[in-house]
Amino acid sequence: MPICKKCNNNVSKVYECDHTDDEEYCKECYTELHYYLTEKN
Ligand SMILES: [Zn+2]
Ligand SMILES: [Zn+2]
Repeated sequence: MPICKKCNNNVSKVYECDHTDDEEYCKECYTELHYYLTEKN
């Protein structure tokens, strides 16, 4: 099982992109990250 780099939870699916520095994030953390990125813009 992949582990989210941010919350350290075991999750069934992880997501990554440039914003996560190629670390694997769970859906919640990934969504939250992009939410804040969008807010800043
Ligand atoms: Zn997470
Ligand atoms: Zn991104």
